[in-house]
Amino acid sequence: MSEACGSPAIVARDVEKAYELGRIRALTGMSLTVEAGEWVAIVGPSGCGKSTLLHLVAALDHVDAGHIHVLGTDLDLVDDAAAYRRRTVGLVFQLHNLLPSLSAVENVEVPMFGTGRPRRERRRQAHVLLERVGLGHRADGRPAELSGGERQRVAIARALANDPRLLLADEPTGSLDSTAGRRVLDVLRELREE
Ligand code: ADP
Ligand code: MG
Repeated sequence: MSEACGSPAIVARDVEKAYELGRIRALTGMSLTVEAGEWVAIVGPSGCGKSTLLHLVAALDHVDAGHIHVLGTDLDLVDDAAAYRRRTVGLVFQLHNLLPSLSAVENVEVPMFGTGRPRRERRRQAHVLLERVGLGHRADGRPAELSGGERQRVAIARALANDPRLLLADEPTGSLDSTAGRRVLDVLRELREE
């Protein structure tokens, strides 16, 4: 995607999003600006539209009205949403969604498939990312052998596989106890500072 120099990371203007033929209005006149380098937490009760907003920014869904620009590009004009996601966004969900039959390092490699990176390079990058989230020593563990907090840190490493410009996390600590949750937030904060 083309990228205007100095554009905010995200600009949302008057966004409307409804489900079920308009019966459920998830977002109404929602506007938001996130500058590059900002770390923003969107807080609100269950059902207030937090996930809906993240899905729109990730181009997993379309606005009904209004506009969302990411790094200067109007998402309405993005015709290859998969390529946009691969290049621009890393996503972390409440449940880690790791593939159970793959080791931690193999899970981190998954988003690099189809990017043309050679196998050795993919593996090397996956190890670097696991080190960054403090799991270099667990690279060969399968998800079932890891703790909940470790699994979520693998999911963060996987989200970073293709050097995304945005990292979107939807309740990334929602299924963790407070200590593991704090560790996940510490990792996210360190990554942002880098
Ligand atoms: P949050 O993440 O803040 O809990 P959501 O964005 O998931 O909120 O949901 C906002 C509203 O939209 C809720 O009323 C929810 O039930 C509804 N909603 C979300 N996704 C769908 C969907 N795919 N189909 C129908 N309704 C949905
Ligand atoms: Mg949600």
